[in-house]
Amino acid sequence: MSKAKSTVALAKGDDIQANVTRVFDLMGGVQNVIRKGTTVVLKPNAGHAEPPETSVCTNPEVVRAVIREVKKAEPKKIIVAEAAAIGCDTMECFKVSGIQAVAEEEGVELADIKRDKDLVKVAVRGFRSNIDSVKLPRFLLEADHLINLPILKAHASMVFSGALKNIKGVVQDKVHMDMHKQNLTMAMMDVWSVCRADINIMDAHRAASGYSPHMPVPIDTHMILGSKDPVAIDRVACEVTGIDTSAVDYFKVAEETGLGNYDMDQIEVVGEKIEDCFYKMWIPYIGDMSTRWPEYDVRCKGGCSSCQALLAINMEELKAVGAYDENAGMTVVIGGLNEIPEDIPDEKIVLHGNCTKKYLKQHPGAYHILGCPPNEPALYLTIQRHETIDGTGDQEDEIIRPCMARDAQVWKDYVFKKFEEYKKENTEVK
Ligand code: SF4
Repeated sequence: MSKAKSTVALAKGDDIQANVTRVFDLMGGVQNVIRKGTTVVLKPNAGHAEPPETSVCTNPEVVRAVIREVKKAEPKKIIVAEAAAIGCDTMECFKVSGIQAVAEEEGVELADIKRDKDLVKVAVRGFRSNIDSVKLPRFLLEADHLINLPILKAHASMVFSGALKNIKGVVQDKVHMDMHKQNLTMAMMDVWSVCRADINIMDAHRAASGYSPHMPVPIDTHMILGSKDPVAIDRVACEVTGIDTSAVDYFKVAEETGLGNYDMDQIEVVGEKIEDCFYKMWIPYIGDMSTRWPEYDVRCKGGCSSCQALLAINMEELKAVGAYDENAGMTVVIGGLNEIPEDIPDEKIVLHGNCTKKYLKQHPGAYHILGCPPNEPALYLTIQRHETIDGTGDQEDEIIRPCMARDAQVWKDYVFKKFEEYKKENTEVK
């Protein structure tokens, strides 16, 4: 039996409200997709305390436009809910991102999932990671509609972030940490299986290219996408921004789990045409990683796209902080299909990710960074400091965050310089 096609609505233009309204209209009209008298939860990406101009969080004006559109359907209640990234305060993120002000002005409720005490344990049937149950807020499970509101951005641990990744932010820190200790892609799919958004509206007004999420380069893409299918909307977002989807592993997993359609033959794009909206994003997480840093011995056979992306950000960050040359000659290993010669001294080897643990038999003194994928800056900090940094124990608070704050400006200058170089080489990039 052939699968039903998915529809993705695509709108382009400077007016955010007009784009959001158009997308809802293309999906059948807001009165038809949202039932009158219901409770509607909006889940933006407000994972970090960053202002709107950085494009780290969903643009508050997109949140406002969706609230105003949903109000036309006369819901009983609208709640904007989020659980910010590990170590981040959700309410602070709402405030700095501009979403709190929008919620107050529009008269809708804000909910911090991290602080919610009324949790319901939900079994994950047929779980693919080792998460067999998830505790979720009752209000989220009992909501009539969940609207996923991701921002389109390059992402160091997933290549890019869109609808599929944004639902990861409905869990509290403990589950979030467990997800990062194992296969994050599988864990994300497990969360989707118990908390499925029925509508996805993607903020691609100013998408974040570059070394996002922590060092984004916002670009004026001026698009809004909408779909009931999270896989299809992410696929179309990639098509319209020139992201090579064969380099994004989680599409395969998402399709296998039956979450939605990946194949463009199974997706109908309505509204604007992809070719009329095309805007090439700078995503430095894609390409051949084995030869990109010839001063290092990089072995990445069997590495997932997540670890390849992390390799890219960390090797460039080593350059930015001036620690690249002095550590040249080190061997960096990602993925489980590599050969590591016996004669490489253990102290010259960094094993990145859970699946490289097996090489410790042969090289017990190598640095082994835990995580699947590991913490974003773990690799460059391990190489720079000559000690294993993976966020275990107190490292997150005592080493990782202070080092990221220390290196932020030099890294920012480096990234924006690289973007200018990239634009000169790729004239279609604006
Ligand atoms: S640790 Fe291994 S399995 Fe996990 S994301 Fe990295 S390469 Fe993939």
